[in-house]
Amino acid sequence: MTTLLQNALEKDEFRLFYQPKVCLLTGSVLGVEALIRWFSADLGEVSPADFIPLAEDMGLIDQIGDWVMETAIKQAVIWRDQQMPVNVAVNVSARQFQRGNVAGRVIGLLHRYELSPSLFGIELTETSFMHSAAKTRSAISELLRVGVSVAIDDFGTGCSSLNYIRTLSLNQLKIDLSFIRNIQSSEKDRLLVEAMIAMAHAMDYKVIAEGVETVEQLKLLRRMGCDQAQGYLFSRPQPEENITEWLKYAF
Ligand code: C2E
Ligand code: MG
Ligand code: MG
Repeated sequence: MTTLLQNALEKDEFRLFYQPKVCLLTGSVLGVEALIRWFSADLGEVSPADFIPLAEDMGLIDQIGDWVMETAIKQAVIWRDQQMPVNVAVNVSARQFQRGNVAGRVIGLLHRYELSPSLFGIELTETSFMHSAAKTRSAISELLRVGVSVAIDDFGTGCSSLNYIRTLSLNQLKIDLSFIRNIQSSEKDRLLVEAMIAMAHAMDYKVIAEGVETVEQLKLLRRMGCDQAQGYLFSRPQPEENITEWLKYAF
């Protein structure tokens, strides 16, 4: 996989799929998340959960990350020009903050493609702060300053989350899908989600529930005051042409 991954960019084997983020108050689409897919000629489809950690170890994540950012920004420009201005968010891994100049790269690309920062976002996990807190923090401040939205991903699964929430201003908090999965059957999970929503709102963050698959979960989350949801119930991550069709109904 290592050798194949090295050549995947050159061979144009990556694609971005997109998944809508839906407002629970109005039902409108507030943004989409870009999720990378690797369609390897030799291995078939490989999950990002498998190849992203490998790309990090091999030092390929910067190149791949740059490709992701550029592709997502170009797509946001296309949707904007089709009168469907939608915020496109990409996932940025801890290693990218550690090694590269994430803020500079994003700002440079936004400038080059003339995209408003309000139509772009990043998602990072709590782990990013564990490895290089100072660098991550300054990159985030810079991105927020220019108007890029920043979300904490997989909230509740990492370490020291509360400390970072306390000392950083962000826009969004995404509750990890593992908490949403059993929200109906587990009283504990329900209480935890409720507490996360209350805490995020007290800090003035929007809350997104990941991995919403059933109407029952949706109803429960709406009753709890959750702001947005994302999951198979609305749409699986899909290629841009499918999402374009999806967005046409939304705008
Ligand atoms: P993530 O950012 O937390 O993305 C959410 C994952 O949940 C995605 O898996 C998505 O396909 C999946 N998902 C969405 N809705 C549902 C649902 O209703 N039920 C269930 N069971 N799953 C749902 P995916 O696409 O396999 O991505 C896995 C992880 O890989 C992502 O987690 C993210 O951390 C990472 N990743 C994906 N694309 C990129 C990228 O471009 N760059 C970096 N650095 N990491 C990426
Ligand atoms: Mg994400
Ligand atoms: Mg997540």
